Amino acid sequence: MSFPYEAPVSQSLFDRASAVTPGGVNSPVRAFRAVGGTPRFMVSGAGPYLTDADGREYVDLVCSWGPMILGHSHPEVIAAVQEAVGRGTSFGTPGAGEVELAEEIVARVEPVEQVRLVSSGTEATMSAIRLARGFTGRPKVIKFAGCYHGHVDALLAAAGSGVATFGLPDTPGVTGAQAGDTIVLPYNDLEAVRAAFAAHPGEIACVITEASPGNMGVVPPLPGFNQGLKDLCSADGALFISDEVMTGFRVSKAGWYGIDGVRPDLMTFGKVMGGGFPAAAFGGRADVMAHLAPAGPVYQAGTLSGNPIATAAGVAQLRLLDDAAYEKVDAVSAEVRGLVTAALAKEGVAHRVQAAGNMFTVFFTDAEVTDYEGAKAQEAFRFTAFFHSMLSQGVYLPPSAFESWFVSTAHDTAAVERIAAALPAAARAAAAATA
Ligand code: PLP
Repeated sequence: MSFPYEAPVSQSLFDRASAVTPGGVNSPVRAFRAVGGTPRFMVSGAGPYLTDADGREYVDLVCSWGPMILGHSHPEVIAAVQEAVGRGTSFGTPGAGEVELAEEIVARVEPVEQVRLVSSGTEATMSAIRLARGFTGRPKVIKFAGCYHGHVDALLAAAGSGVATFGLPDTPGVTGAQAGDTIVLPYNDLEAVRAAFAAHPGEIACVITEASPGNMGVVPPLPGFNQGLKDLCSADGALFISDEVMTGFRVSKAGWYGIDGVRPDLMTFGKVMGGGFPAAAFGGRADVMAHLAPAGPVYQAGTLSGNPIATAAGVAQLRLLDDAAYEKVDAVSAEVRGLVTAALAKEGVAHRVQAAGNMFTVFFTDAEVTDYEGAKAQEAFRFTAFFHSMLSQGVYLPPSAFESWFVSTAHDTAAVERIAAALPAAARAAAAATA
């Protein structure tokens, strides 16, 4: 496909980046490999907009892959960060900001009795799994195909996100020993989980699942699935880990737990709780968390864990996320979903918009998507054409058909109108696309 619009400054930055960084990027999906063309190098963000190095403005429907739920450069978050920076950037000691962020999380998410702060979602899931193994004394972990829990060795098997985008079955560099205790099952298939527990009695430390997956595109749990996982874990003495790195504090005040109410033993968080800075967390039952060093024997640590700037940003963002904020994000999400549906339907493009709270994905297929196989069966080539048409008209979508779209409280009428104006041509491009 040709790319009629140019981005010479981004192109020259990408050329320089490619000389010094593998693939020119520091996280694979940013590279546009799945859709082709030149990744846009962004220089600033304000409210619902990003501006690239060529001076073009985009309505941002990625929101930094979730965190920017108040839009870019929210004045109160920026003020909190500036105030914190003025006091120093890292102390390597405990600080009040960590306590405030932990208290905010515990107050919002009832199953979280204790929480440990880390710097990335990957660290959170890696640590939660180590803790589950240490607590239960068991080796095996059940995960689901299409779910992504960061680039943890044991969890990269059949993962979503970039691994799905690039069709990588598994990752070189992960040894059989590292992945050997991972059991990968089809998502939304409770029978498969039941069979795995029956086949490995007393061996399964935990089941980890995205609370509502967004990394194979948005594929919500079928009714009863999460509760079924919880019940199977409880019956066997395994721990149920709900990964809310993407959904946490985004889809409701208490994340996906606030929507489905299924009580995990451990939960993981990231993205929104850091206000755009590297902050993440894992937490849950106090008796399980008590096994963590220095209270208990399971080791876990981090030089920059609970960093004062990151915690200041996270606390400021979470305190602004009241009921009204979620109502606003939900309403914008519903509006954009409606507009996309109408535009694609008008052009007769097979599609299905799936939502989990305010997160959503436009799948280019008629069929309901309930698992990774279903997600892969979509006509992703139509997404490519759709993506580039939107980009050329100043709307920035995730550069992959296997990702969630994100909106924010800052997506106002003007931003939504720009999206609406771009959709007819994008829908025509999707209709005309060929594999
Ligand atoms: N878990 C989920 C559900 C995620 O969506 C992600 C990242 O997208 C992670 C874990 C990993 O988080 P991070 O990229 O901060 O390491």
